[in-house]
Amino acid sequence: MSGCGCAEVVTPGLLDLFDARARMIAAARPIRGSERVSLAQATGRVLMDEVRATLDMPGVDNSAMDGYALRRAEFGAEGLPVTLRVPAGAGVLRLPEGGCARIFTGAPVPLGADAVVPQEWVRLDPEGRMHVEGELAAGANIRRRGEETREGELLLPAGTRLDAAAIALLAGHGLGEVGVVRRLRVALLSTGDELIEPGSARVPGQVYDSNRVMLLALLVQAGGEVLDLGVIADAPHDLHQAFSQARDIADLVMCTGGVSVGEEDHVRPVIERLGGIAFHGVAMKPGKPFALGYLGDSLHAGTPLIALPGNPVASLVGWQLLALPFVQVRQGREAAPLQRFPVAAGFSRRGPRGRRELLRVVLDWSAGAPVARLAGGQGSHMLSAASQAHGYLMIDANHNVEEGHAYGYCPAVQFLD
Ligand code: AMP
Ligand code: MG
Repeated sequence: MSGCGCAEVVTPGLLDLFDARARMIAAARPIRGSERVSLAQATGRVLMDEVRATLDMPGVDNSAMDGYALRRAEFGAEGLPVTLRVPAGAGVLRLPEGGCARIFTGAPVPLGADAVVPQEWVRLDPEGRMHVEGELAAGANIRRRGEETREGELLLPAGTRLDAAAIALLAGHGLGEVGVVRRLRVALLSTGDELIEPGSARVPGQVYDSNRVMLLALLVQAGGEVLDLGVIADAPHDLHQAFSQARDIADLVMCTGGVSVGEEDHVRPVIERLGGIAFHGVAMKPGKPFALGYLGDSLHAGTPLIALPGNPVASLVGWQLLALPFVQVRQGREAAPLQRFPVAAGFSRRGPRGRRELLRVVLDWSAGAPVARLAGGQGSHMLSAASQAHGYLMIDANHNVEEGHAYGYCPAVQFLD
């Protein structure tokens, strides 16, 4: 792991993975603009402004149990007659002197009562009087008005990603709709003369474009709105045209393929003609040919562009470790911390030279504690292992993997938020 003090030889010219990630986060600026959506439409959206409690929660003292509400001072060996019935939804009633109330969970505790006895503790005698064994504590089984939050207190800060619990919290405060950051508009394209659409007929040598639908799924999962520009040929003119169009319609341009340094890789020179490159090349395996650039005068004045590798697993890993935090910040939230915790390797393997390696692994819990096992073939073109993997085992550059030793494990994106 970084900071272990081990000597790491990293390929010259490649940026360290964590430096690259920090640069991505620092380079991202939140977009402006909001919209109001109903709570039913709010899943995964990002709160525009903080939300404060609209009422005390709970709104009134209410019963935590199905049982009987009573005045402790009136309670004795002779029991109490049941003189009131308070179902959920009843208003705030008053407990008549010398009696107790049948009450149900969530129903307002009648004025004058100072404890609720669960029905399991109660015996009703033939005259219908209520008897209890044991002690009654003051306030027992009463949920107090405002004990969770008071009106005006902060419920959710701006930038919160709305998940099921957050949406329920808003609903509990009576809010039917909420102001959220508008969706990040991302223009997405893949490049490669060999690429064809899934669903069409193929001749040998052609490759189905799997990255574009993968990135589309990942962008949608991250809350973005995708403008799909399709497959662009390995030709500078076509790329130039596509990037020029993308620049004007999107908050972010994302492309995959053609970003290595072969003579069929035209992405970088075209970006340099239309804008510039912030960095290119990260010391990770897979995922080395990753670039952050921009179309226009600068990263902030122009439209940022993320170029992901063409190899499908490289694209997937580059997305999770580098592109996703950028998208999260642009979408108005904080970059989710990179989760990494030690997990023992269930295999030995020669380590990566000059780059950190992210091995696709599954966690085997059969022995109680997790053991990471290879999910399948580790080629950067092998989606089959990536599709099985629970996450990545991160191996530092120039370190071998030894069975039984622990390495940093990062859950795969589908197991995060
Ligand atoms: P490139 O980055 O363009 O050099 O491509 C590297 C490898 O990834 C090649 O084998 C390409 O055929 C493959 N590849 C590139 N783009 C895609 C894509 N969108 N979907 C699937 N495979 C791709
Ligand atoms: Mg290519």
